[in-house]
Amino acid sequence: MLRHHGVSTILVESHTGMSKIPRLRLVNGRSMEIYRSLGLEPLIRENLSKLARFNQMARAESVAGQEIVRTDLEGLEESSRFSPTSHAPIDQHRLEPILYESAKKAGADLRFGTRLVSLGRHGDGVEATVSDQDGHVSRLRAKYLLACDGHRSTVRDLLGIASSGPGTLKRYATISADIAIDDLIGDRAIGAWFLANPAQGTVLLPHDRPGRWVLMVPYYDGERQNFPGITGIDDFDEATCVELVRSAVGAGDLPVSLVSLLPGGDRFVVDWDFGVSVADSFRSGRVFLLGDAAHLIPPSGGFGANVGIADAHNLAWKLGLVVGGAAHDRLLDSYERERRPVARLTAEAAVDRMDKRTSAGGADPGVAGNLAVVYGHHYRSAAVHPEEPGVPELLDPRNTGGLPGTRAPHLLVRPANGPVEMSTVDLFGRHFVLLAGSQGAAWTVAATQVSTALGLPIRTYLLGHDLHDLEDRWLSASGASEGGALLVRPDGVVGWRASGATDHPEAVLHDVMNTLLALDNAAALRNLEAS
Ligand SMILES: Cc1cc2nc3c(=O)[nH]c(=O)nc-3n(C[C@H](O)[C@H](O)[C@H](O)COP(=O)(O)OP(=O)(O)OC[C@H]3O[C@@H](n4cnc5c(N)ncnc54)[C@H](O)[C@@H]3O)c2cc1C
Repeated sequence: MLRHHGVSTILVESHTGMSKIPRLRLVNGRSMEIYRSLGLEPLIRENLSKLARFNQMARAESVAGQEIVRTDLEGLEESSRFSPTSHAPIDQHRLEPILYESAKKAGADLRFGTRLVSLGRHGDGVEATVSDQDGHVSRLRAKYLLACDGHRSTVRDLLGIASSGPGTLKRYATISADIAIDDLIGDRAIGAWFLANPAQGTVLLPHDRPGRWVLMVPYYDGERQNFPGITGIDDFDEATCVELVRSAVGAGDLPVSLVSLLPGGDRFVVDWDFGVSVADSFRSGRVFLLGDAAHLIPPSGGFGANVGIADAHNLAWKLGLVVGGAAHDRLLDSYERERRPVARLTAEAAVDRMDKRTSAGGADPGVAGNLAVVYGHHYRSAAVHPEEPGVPELLDPRNTGGLPGTRAPHLLVRPANGPVEMSTVDLFGRHFVLLAGSQGAAWTVAATQVSTALGLPIRTYLLGHDLHDLEDRWLSASGASEGGALLVRPDGVVGWRASGATDHPEAVLHDVMNTLLALDNAAALRNLEAS
């Protein structure tokens, strides 16, 4: 994403290759819109999980034991009226190589087997000390540093940024094994087993390779260690892992072949924290926290990585403009202002799903809930021109109708110069876009003038002229009149709305752009106060 916005990038990753640990299993619809804007949708669809049809979950003592309850996995958003794309069931270990190749092709400098060990200031930038596998230490200097180093973030610790929330509630060990249990499973299309053995809260998942399974065992449940003699991940030896797999399956003599989970090694067990926390700050000077480094969200609901993807999407265009000199560094403050509430609300939604999943009925919160969490966030920051104060941070996205701070609407349109239908969502991704109603030509002219004055591309589209609104939905989807317009940020969020025509559109738009780019501090402060 950074390369997409013209930012030179070096990535350091302490592992020597990509992880095979199954975690994310579903890229949600909003993340797919983001990947689509980067041209990655076809590749992702080619690599969908073979397990997509395993769309149920079961609770049982063990796989061989009696099932207590079986439910469908959470209702997924039905997005065809809503978006040009939809969620994609793909496993994290299949997605990451696609992202790796794409970043490499775009010119990112990707350094695996390299660990960040310390961090300091250098002039008006940052200096990171990194160490490679052979222990060679070197220094890297950059204008900004983005910490995407996971829940146990070194960078967050080095900066002394605290987190709020309950923190780690459980500690899990993930074990991967080849086991022959098809006879026990029969024709049950279960994608997740929630088991009482070997400890309450155990999860067993099919891997997308036949015969391979992933067992997640809580060895610490917040109050006590669940297994005598096991206090940390190093206490899991091979025999213990085999016994745990057998206990989950309910077959004491099952042949178990453990499988390494990390690149180039013989580590057949890794651990991870199940919990809820959100960093108190997402920015410290020239350093930003993203993904799990900024927020730990329980796996229930499948939101964690998707929130991280949206963090990166939110920050990348802002950094592109700031590094390129088109916006003031203050624009970057809106990253925390916009993304922290999303992390908090999404963590709450995940906890809610976790509670429902483990409660007697096992009910899920339904599609409306998922739609809001995936598409319905309402940003309130200086990078959004506010209209009404007091609008909630989470909305039903079917009714946001062009409200500044929300995802810009999907309208089915046909370009005047082409026969192919497309979505307005596909117009967003790289530059600001001004979308005007059929009588809003003055806005498109003004946008072109402002674009020239600022030296910053603003793409303009006049409905009825450049694009035909095939379902005649502009008025309801934009909340503006035919003489009005939406100014959409590069991340597809409405930055400002003109409800109708005005006498001096160029002056108005110039003011708005200055504010959104934080070039005018006074106006930016007014924005913040109004929101
Ligand atoms: C069991 C499970 C199921 C999940 N299911 C889903 C799901 O269905 N949907 C979903 O959206 N999310 C899901 N998640 C959450 C998702 O996996 C995480 O949110 C996501 O992996 C976070 O990505 P990240 O890049 O922020 O952090 P990580 O994936 O933790 O990556 C951080 C990286 O930083 C590297 N690193 C750490 N320290 C350093 C250092 N000092 N120097 C260099 N490199 C360093 C690490 O090696 C690691 O590769 C699940 C998580 C788990 C555990």
